Amino acid sequence: MREQIGILVQLQEIEIETNRIKSVLAGVSGKISGLDAELSDAAQEIEKGKALIDELRKKYRSSESDYQANLSSYNKSQERLSAVKTNKEYQSILKEIDDMKAKNSGIEEAMLKDLDVIETAEKEVSRLKNEFLSIEERIKGEKNILIDETEKDKTNLAALEEKWGSISKNVSPELMRKFNMVRERTRGIAIAPVFDSICSGCNMNIPPQMYNELQRFDSLKFCPHCQRIIYWGKETSMS
Ligand SMILES: [Zn+2]
Repeated sequence: MREQIGILVQLQEIEIETNRIKSVLAGVSGKISGLDAELSDAAQEIEKGKALIDELRKKYRSSESDYQANLSSYNKSQERLSAVKTNKEYQSILKEIDDMKAKNSGIEEAMLKDLDVIETAEKEVSRLKNEFLSIEERIKGEKNILIDETEKDKTNLAALEEKWGSISKNVSPELMRKFNMVRERTRGIAIAPVFDSICSGCNMNIPPQMYNELQRFDSLKFCPHCQRIIYWGKETSMS
């Protein structure tokens, strides 16, 4: 029985490692889509910046055509000045001219400010483009590491499966059946060592008589509290 218990302990270690690797593998596609999302967010920031610049340039061009239209009205008014007959008309055109002058200098000022804003936005887009390149580089590296690790994990998983196959052949079918039953029920640790009368599966006390019997390793014992297969921990670690 001692040898059989030893094999079950090995099988359990294989199972724990197998589950650990499987859960790592299950997280890989999530990690990859997380990295892809990070990169596409960075690309989107650039697109937003470009759209803003387009918007600003459109505004600038529209100011420019306002300015030109205003300028041609201004020139026409200037021409009209020489043809006026009355002082009143003269004064009224002069006022028009002054208004248009003021309006155009306002437009000019706004256009200069727009140019500043465009320049700032262009600098920001170029900063975002550089940032994108470094994010892209880092993500490429992280993905390569993930791919390498995944390959290694898959290889290890196959090796564990093979090891399980060869080791489990040495367990009697009856014991294997019981072991599988407990595995299904406990979904994890099916076999637990007992140290100082305490089952390490559930941390409860084992009755003294059972604890004594455990040390003889002559029959299969189950924890009365968690129903796991139990064995004398001290003895096993010394053997
Ligand atoms: Zn227990």
